[in-house]
Amino acid sequence: MKSQNYLTEPQGNTKIQTAIDAVMKAMRLCEQVQSEMVSTDAIQKTDRSPVTVADFGSQALICQAIGEAFPDNPIVAEESAQALKENASLLERVTGYVNQFKRQRFAFCEDAVSAETVCEWIDRGSGEVGPNFWTLDPIDGTKGFLRRDQYAIALAYIVDGVVQLGVLGCPNLPYRLDTAETERGCLFVASRGEGTHLYSKTGELLARVHVSEATHRFAESFESTHGDSDAHATIANALGITESPVRMDSQAKYGIVSRGEASLYIRLPNPAYPDYRECIWDHAAGAIVVEEAGGTVTDANGVPLNFLAGKRMHENRGIVATNGKLHQHVLKALSNL
Ligand code: AMP
Ligand code: MG
Repeated sequence: MKSQNYLTEPQGNTKIQTAIDAVMKAMRLCEQVQSEMVSTDAIQKTDRSPVTVADFGSQALICQAIGEAFPDNPIVAEESAQALKENASLLERVTGYVNQFKRQRFAFCEDAVSAETVCEWIDRGSGEVGPNFWTLDPIDGTKGFLRRDQYAIALAYIVDGVVQLGVLGCPNLPYRLDTAETERGCLFVASRGEGTHLYSKTGELLARVHVSEATHRFAESFESTHGDSDAHATIANALGITESPVRMDSQAKYGIVSRGEASLYIRLPNPAYPDYRECIWDHAAGAIVVEEAGGTVTDANGVPLNFLAGKRMHENRGIVATNGKLHQHVLKALSNL
């Protein structure tokens, strides 16, 4: 029996196409903001992490698109419009970009949307985790975005706790690492049972991707405070990995595991933040991208990621994403730490 397809709607509207179109639009907005960025385009949130005009703009565009196509689907997204409502000039900047990108093809016949509407679109992302929902990180790796390094737009659709669809837009990621390749801008699309495909940022299919057993290299966060790099090095050593790690921001790390450029992405809790719990939008899209490419993703104890525990994965500690073959070896090494 063919498994139920959760992604095709009765009216023929596919969730995949809607999600791809929305993420591609958000990628263009992010690149435009990055090329014109002024210092006041980034502010600090109450947890002291940065958020930018592009984070808000990306969330507005994607929530608008998903909200319009699937009005009954909750969206659980990282940002809220609260800080914007208190910052008129930032809101004006976001509104300008959202108007520029909301429907480029038909721009001539569309009225501009107001700042209020933009805030409403952003706050469509304040939905709750439930039987089926979307989760969105409008810019994962905002620190990488600000450094003009790696970042990702990560959108996933989850049914009964199982990720069914993941779309990961990585505007700065080269088509291939370790080569003279200069083309950049990758879109990973994974749907349950259908594999992971890599597209260019303009939507050209580049390849179906697979994890690799030939590579022996690990990836970790660029930000040392987001993990435990000493412990990562100990595990790598135990596995006989001698190559230096790929240090990279955002879920682009899942992307490079999915296409065989790293055999392991490891993220152990930083000892300075023992109570930190990972957010669902930081892992849902990336996890299916690796799984559908033939890899395995669990937490550091080998426990499956639980996307139903709330916005944070309270029942999980750390992340281990591998080419599959390496998984049990990593867990074994972790148990000996
Ligand atoms: P990465 O670029 O892989 O480090 O992922 C960026 C994400 O790390 C951000 O979206 C934050 O949600 C998350 N983050 C922030 N602080 C921590 C921390 N102390 N430990 C783990 N992840 C964190
Ligand atoms: Mg994030």
